[in-house]
Amino acid sequence: MSYITVDENKKMTVPDRVNLGYIEGDGIGPDITKAMINVVNASIEVAYNGSRSVEWEKILAGEEAFEKTGEHLPKESQKQIEKCIVSIKGPLTTPIGQGFRSLNVTLRQQFDLYANIRPVRYFPGVPSPVVHPEYMDMIVFRENTEDLYAGIEWKYDSEQAKKVREFLSREFGVSLSDDTGIGIKPIGKFKSQRLVRKAIQYAIANNRKSVTLMHKGNIMKYTEGAFKEWGYELARTEFPDQTVTEEEYLQNPDALSGRIIIKDRIADNMFQQALTRTAEYDIIATPNLNGDYISDALAAQVGGIGIAPGANMGDVYAVFEAVHGTAPKYAGMDVANPTSLILSAVMMLRHIGWKEAADILDGAVTLCYKDQKVTQDLARIMNIKALKCSEFAEEIIKRMKKED
Ligand code: NAP
Repeated sequence: MSYITVDENKKMTVPDRVNLGYIEGDGIGPDITKAMINVVNASIEVAYNGSRSVEWEKILAGEEAFEKTGEHLPKESQKQIEKCIVSIKGPLTTPIGQGFRSLNVTLRQQFDLYANIRPVRYFPGVPSPVVHPEYMDMIVFRENTEDLYAGIEWKYDSEQAKKVREFLSREFGVSLSDDTGIGIKPIGKFKSQRLVRKAIQYAIANNRKSVTLMHKGNIMKYTEGAFKEWGYELARTEFPDQTVTEEEYLQNPDALSGRIIIKDRIADNMFQQALTRTAEYDIIATPNLNGDYISDALAAQVGGIGIAPGANMGDVYAVFEAVHGTAPKYAGMDVANPTSLILSAVMMLRHIGWKEAADILDGAVTLCYKDQKVTQDLARIMNIKALKCSEFAEEIIKRMKKED
């Protein structure tokens, strides 16, 4: 057993035989997790000839955990996530009923996984609803711990909602009818800036061209508007030599000289620009709700959320995840598309510095799509024979090759 360690400067050390945590997930989770583990193990073997390997550590969560322990996220599982530092998870059912919070939201808040990172790019061969899907190469950095998803809300007929309405009326003269539910949208400077910092750091480390602050600040000035202002302020004060604002660049194109352009777009405009001027956008940093919408919309442009990966990251912990849900109707049928989870594993391999294995796996997935080896979700659109989830994984493994 050997675990990743993180020092006081947040620097990670990864042993060659590393324990990584995995949560199978509910519904199609076990099928896609099995496929993911098989292809990741194979890519590591091809890349390092036995000198590196993963010890997969199962972490109980979701329905299986509830059946076995009476809890959806037992304390023991939380300890394992803490110990492993880096984990990967399949989709989890959000339990319906009062008193339950989404397990995903709980994980994000508990381990302070403040950045939800969703790369979106096109794989040649995948059916797309747009004319030039190949122009898409964006990465969404979505704030993960505040905004409307923080869950501060009260039902219209609750005591709390009544009290808030009375307070608003008494203190601020704001009158709301008795049938009004209340939700609070907290957006703070510290949390906005650490998200934008992560996006800019990523842009610098990966030679990206721009970071766009997506917001609805024209209407929600002190939350979304403040996010934009704090984003620009952070770029100006912490990255003065590596960034330039779009305004400065337009006035003086020479100001660019290899720097990253910081720009902002109002959310509705961002949606249409993503379609009409796709190639002009690169990294998008945005509060939670905008990020939720835009990441699925971008994924749809290149073939849907079945193939889009995701990661939840903080300064210490990281949980990589399939972005789609549990698709319960396909549970246990070995027909689901495991690509989202597999590409999340590619992100995970890069995160732990195992770049060679990541490249091999990414290359093999790309070749599968190019060769039109696909699962039923895409096969039915392409009018070709569908592979089972496990067969798709085998096809990926067949296409793995070491770069010279
Ligand atoms: P969903 O599970 O994503 O499924 C919706 C539809 O998307 C499926 O019926 C299927 O479409 C397609 N699909 C999704 N993933 C697929 C895959 N890997 N391969 C093939 N097809 C796939 O969304 P949902 O039905 O709204 O949610 C079901 C449960 O998942 C809920 O409990 C929800 O809370 C949970 N959920 C969890 C997460 C997470 O853990 N991150 C995220 C979202 C939802 P067709 O029917 O057209 O074939």
